[in-house]
Amino acid sequence: MKAAQLERLQEQLAKLRLIKSQERLEALLQEAVDKELSYADFLDQLLGEELKSKTAKNITMRTNLARFPFVKGLDAFDFSYQPSLDKKQLQNIANCHFIEHGENVVILGPPGVGKTHLSVGLGIKAIEHGYRVLFTTAANMIATLTKALAEGKLEDKLKTYTVPRLLIVDEIGYLPIDRAGANLFFQLISRRYEKGPVILTSNQSFGSWGEVFGDRVIATAILDRVLHHAITINIRGNSYRLKDKLKAGLIRTEEPAVVN
Ligand code: ADP
Ligand code: MG
Repeated sequence: MKAAQLERLQEQLAKLRLIKSQERLEALLQEAVDKELSYADFLDQLLGEELKSKTAKNITMRTNLARFPFVKGLDAFDFSYQPSLDKKQLQNIANCHFIEHGENVVILGPPGVGKTHLSVGLGIKAIEHGYRVLFTTAANMIATLTKALAEGKLEDKLKTYTVPRLLIVDEIGYLPIDRAGANLFFQLISRRYEKGPVILTSNQSFGSWGEVFGDRVIATAILDRVLHHAITINIRGNSYRLKDKLKAGLIRTEEPAVVN
């Protein structure tokens, strides 16, 4: 092939935004000649690499948009450390059928048992399945909505939390929520109800959500909607943050874990 033709092809690929193909064209053409590949095989390889590259870029972009506190997948989670967790159940949830069915996932457990890690892991799976995901903490979301309400922009801000197909609200119960905050939380849950699934995590059992939200009636209304279609995962283990200290015998497991 003439140099001018190669250059023209590369320009055309660039205009079509097939950047990986542009990069790889020369090498793959050479390979096709060397290995006497068919036209179909060559095209298969070129388009395969392009698609893989675009998919990876897309996942990276959507992972950034999700605003995870850290990026750790389920494969980095040591299930043997949390025997109360049903690995099969989690792998099943990771298939993301719950998103299709509009089901919620609630992860409960004391500090350090991996609630945030699991919610991020499921969020990454959702992104890999092509969904838009947003991660936030209860405190952060309520502060944002409270500010938006004061500025008369509540409708707009609510959209931030309703548009992503999957919303993850971490750390319900770490900070007390006042009545106005509880109301905003309820509004958000109502809007997503039976449309967009949420993953919620909390260190407080459902029975304590009345205190968490400072109002038993609102807490019941929130729980009513969240639990109507929900999978609850209860983790009853030791904090992973204390793993090494526990191993070294520096603390006993019956002591309350004071972390976070
Ligand atoms: P929680 O949200 O329940 O307080 P995190 O998910 O933040 O706990 O976990 C605390 C730290 O320990 C994180 O860095 C997390 O990745 C890690 N971690 C927790 N449980 C496990 C586990 N079973 N296997 C691997 N890492 C874990
Ligand atoms: Mg956490």
